[in-house]
Amino acid sequence: MTRSEFSHRTRHGNIQKLKSTFWDVLVIGGGITGVGIARDAALRGLNVGLIEKNDFASGTSSKSSKLIHGGLRYLEDLKLKLVFEALSERNILRGMAPHLVQALEILFPIYQQGSSSFLKVHFGMWLYDLLALFRNVKLHKTYRSKSLLQIEPSLTPERLQGGFLFYDSFSQDARLTLQIAVSAQEAGATLSNYVKLLHFKKKGNQLCAAQVQDVLTHETFSIQAHHFVNATGPWSNTVQQLADTTNRKMVRPTKGIHLIFSKEKLPIHHALLLEATDHRVFFIIPWGDHCLLGTTDTDYTGNLDEVYATQDDVHYLLQSLNRYFPKHQITPSDITSTYAGLRPLITEPQEASYHVSREHGIIHHPCGLISIVGGKLTTYRKMAQDVMDTISNKPCRTAQTPFSPIIRSTIAYETFSREDLRYLLDHEMTLTLNDVMMRRTDFFLKSLDQGKSKVPDIAHEMSLVFHWSSERLAQEISAYQYQIELSQKWRNHLI
Ligand SMILES: Cc1cc2nc3c(=O)[nH]c(=O)nc-3n(C[C@H](O)[C@H](O)[C@H](O)COP(=O)(O)OP(=O)(O)OC[C@H]3O[C@@H](n4cnc5c(N)ncnc54)[C@H](O)[C@@H]3O)c2cc1C
Repeated sequence: MTRSEFSHRTRHGNIQKLKSTFWDVLVIGGGITGVGIARDAALRGLNVGLIEKNDFASGTSSKSSKLIHGGLRYLEDLKLKLVFEALSERNILRGMAPHLVQALEILFPIYQQGSSSFLKVHFGMWLYDLLALFRNVKLHKTYRSKSLLQIEPSLTPERLQGGFLFYDSFSQDARLTLQIAVSAQEAGATLSNYVKLLHFKKKGNQLCAAQVQDVLTHETFSIQAHHFVNATGPWSNTVQQLADTTNRKMVRPTKGIHLIFSKEKLPIHHALLLEATDHRVFFIIPWGDHCLLGTTDTDYTGNLDEVYATQDDVHYLLQSLNRYFPKHQITPSDITSTYAGLRPLITEPQEASYHVSREHGIIHHPCGLISIVGGKLTTYRKMAQDVMDTISNKPCRTAQTPFSPIIRSTIAYETFSREDLRYLLDHEMTLTLNDVMMRRTDFFLKSLDQGKSKVPDIAHEMSLVFHWSSERLAQEISAYQYQIELSQKWRNHLI
């Protein structure tokens, strides 16, 4: 095994190590929060293990709007600390992962019928630059309607007052999470995907071990640790209930969906921040040859492992978008794919979901479990630091330790080769067909047939490497087919 290897062989060795070591810290959950904590702990010199029940980033961390941002809209609720913290983290991340975090120009047009006045937004723009300590890519620019239409001609001129151009960043969330996972291993952490926490073991009333299952082999085993960190995002309540008999609801999951369609249908030159029919803001972001449209924000009480866009969600976004582009109406038949995810928001029962705080919180349970809830992709590093500061008095080193860009930034569909696949298997702990199609690449989201035409070859090649039986091969293909069905389920009128 080479040093940079992060493969099924690495995973096999890691599982043996997870069984036989008494860990300083065991992290449960391999989303961006969990892998961030594993890296932070390892860089402090602690012995840290991490388990993820599915694939790295298979939860919310591959379902976001993919923005590394301060969150301009939170200024309206005067969440200055949150915005300041996120803008500082944006700056750190740009420096640490320039191959994965790119500057994004965002246009915010202001219309007369909208709820934000030109003056108020102008003040917000200055505040946004100020909270970034004027260290953004560039300062915002102000446009009157005529000049704004010159740079974004497809927007409707009707009642347009003008607008603003400002800068945030864009990142492929799943690949960023993977980069952090790989860097955590480089720093000394031991990680495994497809290992699920089943329950905890206690000595007296304190946790002493996690009983887990290797989801691929069904083998169960226990992992001993001094500290157990619950970094399971939307699943935090469930994991906490495995440790504690109290039925405390720490997280209030809210659903957000996105749609993807070809940029030929809407030739925009910038990402746009627009006001929806209900006055919430939403984004349309050019993403290569595609546009990414999102998002919604609705309370969710369904199955956490099966979240999908409904017809109402899709119509809400299309109706909101089409008001701005009368000559480029997007119809349901234009949509290539959809995805839906759950925000693990801190429980604030009285608030409408759109206004629930995006801050994070750390809960020390009497049984010794530590839960980290809330937060954003952008602030994962600070969240990890805050958790580890409660466990270790050694200094945090994550802001000063850049990632070595071990993982590739993009993998092209048209030219995807056997060598590319072997790279993913050997360097990115890729174990299933869904891993390849949905998280290591964007084939699921962006290719016209959601990658179906490549599935037979990729699955066959993987079956040779992993010695899959024909039954397992069929299961892999139908598991991917199922994900496509979920992504297209909104087309079915019965939901
Ligand atoms: C629609 C939407 C848009 C968003 N847009 C942005 C954005 O543009 N910018 C931004 O900064 N933030 C954004 N966010 C927020 C951000 O995506 C989340 O805050 C972040 O991804 C949460 O990461 P996490 O690691 O806490 O949770 P997750 O990514 O959900 O990870 C939790 C992991 O725990 C695992 N797990 C659960 N139970 C177990 C178990 N029993 N054993 C082992 N593992 C288990 C799950 O499989 C999962 O992978 C958005 C969120 C949503 C929903």
